[in-house]
Amino acid sequence: MNPISPALQALADELELGPAGPVLDTLRALYREVDLEVERQSSGLELPCRAGCDACCRESVFLSAPEFLLVASHLAASWSKSELTALLDQMSALADRFADELELLESILPGAERDEVAARVKFDCPFLSDSRCRIYSVRELNARTFGSSWDATRHEAYGCELTHARLRVLGPEVGPKLAGAREMRARLTNTLPNTARVHVYPWWFTRYRALVERLAA
Ligand code: SF4
Repeated sequence: MNPISPALQALADELELGPAGPVLDTLRALYREVDLEVERQSSGLELPCRAGCDACCRESVFLSAPEFLLVASHLAASWSKSELTALLDQMSALADRFADELELLESILPGAERDEVAARVKFDCPFLSDSRCRIYSVRELNARTFGSSWDATRHEAYGCELTHARLRVLGPEVGPKLAGAREMRARLTNTLPNTARVHVYPWWFTRYRALVERLAA
């Protein structure tokens, strides 16, 4: 594990996360648990989520500050400065394109109106390359659970229409036995600081661009 650089700690401070090391360790451990649980409870079901399907990476994908910090630390450790600059430019262009929606999303409380605005923020994730995620090992929690978990509040799979269709074939008793999507989200919010605010990648990278650039300096 790479030591925490002053630049990464500066980003963690700005995100109001406190010491970066424990936040990153806790999040990595939580992701390991979630991945195991999702795999265990969906094993053998042949759900349609598989490498090469990127449908959910072309929708608005939300993540919290600790999740963003882990992605930023990964980029600092493994991406070149030019790759990072190109990524930041793409993120800024997307933030400009959806400026009105991103501003609205900062103020609207969770609910139908927010869902409607979020649904308008559709773009190909800049981390996609040949339908693969370039940051797969540190991808956000929602990507780890989408398509393979159950939303007990909505009484439906947390997934796309392909997931729903497969579960209809498998029968009504199967879906509720999948890992709980909201429970896994609650585990994140209960164990990590400052998780209430969630936003899309272009918003995070644009708002904290100067600090992310310092990571590669
Ligand atoms: S970070 Fe990876 S998993 Fe998440 S939306 Fe982008 S490409 Fe998909």
